[in-house]
Amino acid sequence: MNNAVPNRTAPRPARLGTVRTVVYTNPRSLLTPASGFIKAYKFSLNPYGGCGFGCEYCYARFFAPTPEASDSWGEWVRVKENAAALVVEATREPSERLRLCPGDPVYMSSVTDPYQPIESRLGLTRGILEALIPVQPRLVIQTRSPVATRDIDLFQQFDRIRVNLSVPTDSEAVRLRYEPHAPSIRARLKAAETLTRAGVPVGISISPMLGMDDASAFGRRIAGLDAAEYVVTGFHRPGPRFAAGTPVSALEKARADGWNRARYDEAVALIQEALGTHPLLKGNEGYAPPK
Ligand code: SF4
Repeated sequence: MNNAVPNRTAPRPARLGTVRTVVYTNPRSLLTPASGFIKAYKFSLNPYGGCGFGCEYCYARFFAPTPEASDSWGEWVRVKENAAALVVEATREPSERLRLCPGDPVYMSSVTDPYQPIESRLGLTRGILEALIPVQPRLVIQTRSPVATRDIDLFQQFDRIRVNLSVPTDSEAVRLRYEPHAPSIRARLKAAETLTRAGVPVGISISPMLGMDDASAFGRRIAGLDAAEYVVTGFHRPGPRFAAGTPVSALEKARADGWNRARYDEAVALIQEALGTHPLLKGNEGYAPPK
């Protein structure tokens, strides 16, 4: 997450999910050399800091710039308003390690959602896509939001792209317990359908998998989407103090719901059975850049 000093703040516009404070920044760089579960990428690209979906299980809060910002995850968003210009600058970067070149794998986004509520107003992610088209990186977009379908006309101009929709459960009741401000499961699946019909490769990320009502039926539903990729992950177990992991509150909620390893494994097996010959990728193997 970028630590640039905010240069102005704005009152909270309506309909920003959980966000109370919007801060506009002009950071010096946008693309971060990738590591960890996305180490197969050259860069991660986060148009925003913070996220107005405010999911309870979000590990990204551990990358917030201060402990206070981590504690108030979901209540603030930093808008990197010069993001599109920074993409162009990155193509001229003298250092090869930092230069954005055609074919470079880029992951958008690792610690925010590029289509979180404020994106509908600002079009910041859309501007970044416009700047990326002449470069033609191998792009993966990770989102929970059907707002991504707004940019189908731009996705279609990339030779190698995948839009990953995060769909962690089949149950609206479960979703409302863990991510009440994110779009409905139905809307996400419909967005996946719209994207595939438009010829945009889609990934279905069951991540992190939450309690399921009917894993077999869910598996059949997503099999019908004919996605380019299916991936499942569990919670990130908490590491040492301050290390990124699933917040304790989410783990406790899952425990109270009886969502445990045995039920997770059973759901994975049922979904794989429903997917037939489509592999249900596990963890990192599901986040490879498009070839
Ligand atoms: S949408 Fe992603 S980045 Fe945003 S709060 Fe949820 S898990 Fe975190």
